[in-house]
Amino acid sequence: MNKIAIIGAGRVGETAAQMLAEKETCREIALLDVREDAARGAALDICQTSPFFDFDTRVYGSENPVVIADADLVVVTAGLPRKPGMSRSDVLEANVRILDGILDQVLEFAPDSTLLIVSNPVDVLTFYAWKKTGWDRSRVFGQAGVLDASRMANFIAQETGFSSMDITTLVLGGHGDTMVPLPRYCTVNGIPVRQFIDQEKLAEIIARTRDGGAEILALRKTSSAYDAPGAAVVAMADAISHNRKRILPCVALLEGEYQESDIAMGVPCILGDGGLEKVVELQLNEDELALFRQSVSYIRGDLERLASL
Ligand code: NAD
Repeated sequence: MNKIAIIGAGRVGETAAQMLAEKETCREIALLDVREDAARGAALDICQTSPFFDFDTRVYGSENPVVIADADLVVVTAGLPRKPGMSRSDVLEANVRILDGILDQVLEFAPDSTLLIVSNPVDVLTFYAWKKTGWDRSRVFGQAGVLDASRMANFIAQETGFSSMDITTLVLGGHGDTMVPLPRYCTVNGIPVRQFIDQEKLAEIIARTRDGGAEILALRKTSSAYDAPGAAVVAMADAISHNRKRILPCVALLEGEYQESDIAMGVPCILGDGGLEKVVELQLNEDELALFRQSVSYIRGDLERLASL
């Protein structure tokens, strides 16, 4: 991949840019932010880490949208983060307005790109971006489940003492209180996690995963999470850039899968150089399906609010 543009050079955007540069996922990274000089400053700071991390990726920034021209992948991290006590849905109205202007810029300067939405509420904003661009769903999707799954893996690693490198987790549904962590699909090097953690502890881990973002926000107070969110963006960009055909949970437009359509939410997907190449359908059991449907109705509530704006 030649160029990745990141719109919103705030905490998540800058962190993702730094990690993308370190990994040399692409040749160029463009940062765009409305705050005067902010993107340029962030880019310069990242460039000055190149001798430490041995990369020669070009990183540059501007407040002029032309900077995103011809990007292969556009990552949207612009928007208001929530404050302690707020839900992701509380920033819906403000962030839809911001996204709307950004989509105009993407349509003008990077009309052949693939769009990765990160700003919250990510499920609703991904749906909005898909609707407004009219693009195929393979080119418009969001990041949520990769982060939620990494949080769950870390909690399992802390509980068991095993290496997080051996832990596989899967989290579906909306990115919020109704997310659906799936312990049945969690393993330690192929061994079901239930062999190592009792039911009660696992329930605590599931609850902590659902509240993972709020826990960090409450501790940091003036900022929500950005290190792991940045890394989650990089995992997805890297899968696309290297055509890895990874199965990662993405916020995807459903077109009949899981018997849902006209909604964007977290499901396992194949990511490769065709973007979101396929939605993978799981045989959910009755309990899992009930949680998934709860998540659907929560997101549909936000989509109704979106329609009334
Ligand atoms: P931040 O405030 O640090 O950064 C947001 C940046 O967006 C700011 O620099 C701001 O100037 C910029 N911005 C605002 N309007 C813009 C526009 N029209 N064009 C370009 N830039 C614009 O916030 P953050 O902590 O980086 O979080 C960014 C977003 O990502 C929030 O909506 C947050 O909720 C979301 N987030 C999502 C996930 C996820 O898993 N999906 C995880 C963490 C954060």
